[in-house]
Amino acid sequence: MIPAINPRRLTRWLTHWRGKILPLQCPVCHLSLATTSVGATQALCCDACWDAHYQYHLCQCCGLPVTDSQARCGACLSHPPAWDHLFAISAYHDPLPQLVHAFKYQQAFELALPFARQLSERILHPAPVLLPVPLHWRRRWQRGFNQSVHLAWALADHLDTQVVDNVLVRHRHTAPQQGLSRQARLSNLKHAFAIRGELPSSHVAIVDDVVTTGQTVSQLCRLLRRVGAETIDIYCLARTDLP
Ligand SMILES: [Zn+2]
Ligand SMILES: [Zn+2]
Repeated sequence: MIPAINPRRLTRWLTHWRGKILPLQCPVCHLSLATTSVGATQALCCDACWDAHYQYHLCQCCGLPVTDSQARCGACLSHPPAWDHLFAISAYHDPLPQLVHAFKYQQAFELALPFARQLSERILHPAPVLLPVPLHWRRRWQRGFNQSVHLAWALADHLDTQVVDNVLVRHRHTAPQQGLSRQARLSNLKHAFAIRGELPSSHVAIVDDVVTTGQTVSQLCRLLRRVGAETIDIYCLARTDLP
């Protein structure tokens, strides 16, 4: 295993240098980000593109777009998921997938801060404890970092909460969930996770990058309920029902 890098320090350092080394441009219209209301290193895109592309109402339970500002969509009212609330930045529309890909596979850690800033604006009543979805050590070694841990630390700065990254444990290496059938996803995750130790609070939030069918977080919710979690929220960059 490679030594763990302090994710909070690395993200801050990269964010500091990001704006100094590269001229930061909006990924949609390519205009300079220097004039954004939050500053170049904190912005995902320019204010105009944000207003044009990301102003969706999202269901506060499943995170999928809804037509008006209803808290829960009809599907969540009739079949509630295993968690209580899910907060996402926006619908999974361009350029969010490209930004998520860069964050996850191209080591663009510095995106953690603008992601966290934008996501924190969606979150109501923040959980005092953030639990990043763990990677198996083998995938962590291949990738070099766990993107959910970086996101959790950046979120903790905005929400004034704590990150606990040693309670959820992935003790079985699993194939990527992407592209698997529903049944294959279920058996792929069987006995993949465990809980170590006690929860510091009965209100926790699981932090993940993108939630697709929700089976990974559902499995974690079941484990967390067994050890006393009463309110479980999901904080993610986006929710998509696409496999
Ligand atoms: Zn723009
Ligand atoms: Zn819903």
